[in-house]
Amino acid sequence: MEYLRLKDGDAVAILGGGPAGSFFVMHINELAKKLGISLNLIIIERKSFVAHGPTGCNMCAGVLGGNIVQMISDLDLNLLKLDNRVIRQNVEGFKLNIQGRDALIMRPSSKVYTVFRGVGPRSEASSEGFIGFDSFLLEEAKKRGAAVINGTVTDIVIPQNPAGEQCTVRYQDEKNMPRELKAALIVGAFGVNSSLSKKFKFGYIEPGYWHTCQTELMAEGDSDITAYINIFSRRHSKFLFTAITPKGKYLTVSGIGEHVKFSELVDELKALHLDSIMNTNLTSVCHCHPRLPVTAAVRPFYTRVVMVGDACVSRYMKNGIESAFITSRCAAETALLKGIDESAFRDSYYPGCVLKFVRDNRFGRTMFFMHSVIASRGRLGNAVIAAINNEGSRPIERQWMSNITWHMFIGDKPYRAILRSVLNIKEVIKLLLMVLGIRRVRNAK
Ligand SMILES: Cc1cc2nc3c(=O)[nH]c(=O)nc-3n(C[C@H](O)[C@H](O)[C@H](O)COP(=O)(O)OP(=O)(O)OC[C@H]3O[C@@H](n4cnc5c(N)ncnc54)[C@H](O)[C@@H]3O)c2cc1C
Repeated sequence: MEYLRLKDGDAVAILGGGPAGSFFVMHINELAKKLGISLNLIIIERKSFVAHGPTGCNMCAGVLGGNIVQMISDLDLNLLKLDNRVIRQNVEGFKLNIQGRDALIMRPSSKVYTVFRGVGPRSEASSEGFIGFDSFLLEEAKKRGAAVINGTVTDIVIPQNPAGEQCTVRYQDEKNMPRELKAALIVGAFGVNSSLSKKFKFGYIEPGYWHTCQTELMAEGDSDITAYINIFSRRHSKFLFTAITPKGKYLTVSGIGEHVKFSELVDELKALHLDSIMNTNLTSVCHCHPRLPVTAAVRPFYTRVVMVGDACVSRYMKNGIESAFITSRCAAETALLKGIDESAFRDSYYPGCVLKFVRDNRFGRTMFFMHSVIASRGRLGNAVIAAINNEGSRPIERQWMSNITWHMFIGDKPYRAILRSVLNIKEVIKLLLMVLGIRRVRNAK
């Protein structure tokens, strides 16, 4: 079958300069060089990543762990060499806290870094030499040949006969002047915190999302809160979990719930009795309400259009940046190696990438349903924490509950593989015996 192909000199408009947009440029640029094709890559990004607070930030917990660290180095990005400018902290483990009891899971061999997506919280007067992760990626995309326009995309015109004619992208430049450009391919990398999705009239529906809430606190003194990522779950809470991520002198608090407000996050922090475990003033120095995608987009492609990153699909509740990397790589490969019409994306991008996330996320939902049951049943929650504490002296590969928990929240294993490892009859029986009080619970704090 003959697909519509990108040609030498064609313009590709990338709408959004977050991780998905920048990664797309890096992937397509590398592949185009190998194929001897020269493309005109244009990113349009509305934010200035040097502004403090949510206006210059893509609002997330900023945890980079497992695969994505390796993937970034494979792209020849010197993130690790720049660690004192981009990386705020190197974290060696995380603590799971259920109903006030906690367990520490350490994985010193796994690299887990924390970053800010922007330059820093609203309260910060200067960047103190730091740059945000998204700014770092965008600069790298520029170095690899992308032109970056600081502007807001306002409309998309897809012609009646897209196979024969190019698309038009309308935007307002930084002086609010209306502009437009023609593109052979449009890449939707605008995430889910945007109204741009409504401008695509070919049947695209953006992913369903949760309205989460985040706040920044000042980190005071040394404690387990400033050393590790802490994840809290408790009964009768609107939050599925609350994560506290240390970033040098700050702590990013991410409240993950279906529709949660800032005042509810403040109440949640009080209910967690953090004052008993850390010496930190709970006064917020910045807060935001990012959307978290929980389903996949409907029809994320058309002739000359493909969606990547959050605007398409991401792994349920974790690794959004890794998902942006994978979807943008698959879309770039399809565009250059197959074609840019609807059938090329349907035959290659959708089954080879999007559908894999969709299927795995079903297992992810099951895992998080199990987590919410565990968090709401006192004995079960205690037994899980005790199981993690009890197995601490075993070799890492034999730490059943710790490995499940690590991969659910921090690691990068697909959910299907994690769920399969839950089905260890011997360990399940031991856990049930602990729940029933027949097996002794050691080390539970
Ligand atoms: C509370 C929370 C915590 C998270 N924690 C993590 C984590 O620790 N680790 C992790 O890997 N993932 C995390 N994620 C997920 C992660 O934030 C996303 O998956 C990731 O940002 C997706 O990248 P993206 O480029 O697709 O979208 P985005 O990062 O949203 O980028 C989209 C870009 O498009 C631009 N844009 C939008 N509309 C327009 C327009 N009209 N014109 C021009 N530009 C436009 C935006 O300004 C933005 O820069 C978290 C998400 C949430 C909600």
